[in-house]
Amino acid sequence: MLLEEVPVAVDSFNHDGGVLFFCSHAHEDHLKGLNKKWRKGPLFASAITRQLLLLKWPSLEITALELGRTYQIPLMDGLEIEVYLIDANHVPGSVMFLFSGYFGSVLYTGDFRLHEKHQDIASLAPVRDKGLSRIYLDNTFCDPRFQQPSREDVAAAISKRFRRKWPCIIFVESYRLGKETLLLHLAQKLRSRVLVSEERKKTMRACGFESDQVQIQSCDPLQASEDLLQTEALRGCIWAISRQNLRKGMWQASDSGCAFHGIRATGWAEQARKEESMPSCEDLDENLVAVSDDGVFHYLYSDHCSFLELVQFLQFLPKAPVTFISPVGSSEGTYSFDGADGIQKLMASASVPSIRYSERPTRCFEKTSLPRAKRKAEGPHEEDGYEQKKSAGA
Ligand SMILES: [Zn+2]
Repeated sequence: MLLEEVPVAVDSFNHDGGVLFFCSHAHEDHLKGLNKKWRKGPLFASAITRQLLLLKWPSLEITALELGRTYQIPLMDGLEIEVYLIDANHVPGSVMFLFSGYFGSVLYTGDFRLHEKHQDIASLAPVRDKGLSRIYLDNTFCDPRFQQPSREDVAAAISKRFRRKWPCIIFVESYRLGKETLLLHLAQKLRSRVLVSEERKKTMRACGFESDQVQIQSCDPLQASEDLLQTEALRGCIWAISRQNLRKGMWQASDSGCAFHGIRATGWAEQARKEESMPSCEDLDENLVAVSDDGVFHYLYSDHCSFLELVQFLQFLPKAPVTFISPVGSSEGTYSFDGADGIQKLMASASVPSIRYSERPTRCFEKTSLPRAKRKAEGPHEEDGYEQKKSAGA
């Protein structure tokens, strides 16, 4: 998104001329426009995100910025901005950016999950002295229906359930980045190993997850022989697998006659349960999980804020207009919902003066709590594709 206040683009890399580029984290849907030949301007990221981007595109030139330190970066015409990085508590390397300068102070959250340290943002000098001109907010789950519990609670529920079924193969759906803490938690609690692809092992190493419990798989689970699957099931293992291969891996294991289970850990679990008409599971893990017809356990595990956490986060901060980072969807499809209700409730609950947002595909609106202000149409914003967001790390 290209910020309104200053020539800075965050997680969007197709702009030309005089723009500074920042990458909040290395999920695919935040890398739009980047490629190995990309040279459009200065690019900044946290040290971990830089490492992850260089694994993918070794020729990129990226400046690593430390968290908790103020940097002055020159713009054109002798102007400069200050930037300060804050841990976003989303995936390894993910950060929020606090930009300040002639335009005031602007907070760009990127994808984030609320952490108690986020209360300290209000006492950072640029916010304390100038307030906030605008907050660019992660709105992935901006609707009161999204009430995901803490990741620690869900991880504990998962390990508790599968300790009773141990040993077996537990296939855990995961992207190239994210869920590392969950995988290691399960390995620890079940005293087992996490099997990953070579690429995933490199990613985990770049994120600082060095552990003997993380081992490179001897082959892709879809290529595994009956013998191998049976051996692994009797030893017990956590096997990281891509979303598109989760069910295929389960079928393969089923054909071999070994003990196995499949887990999807996602904030969309509740939504998927409704859309796929899964049976009510009140008796299971206090509503943290639903089981689909094909035997996949859908756990309500999210790297994004619940609606309540979004409200709490905004209440920590000085009042400021908000711009949603992602377009607001309609209610079509499994990974979408009608965002209108959430916008109204967020404004009311967190006393937000206005929320600017775009609707798919191009329209952009502003809702405001000011009595005589009216909803106005504006030009389209540059933004991440919602369709991509659903497949990359939510
Ligand atoms: Zn993300």
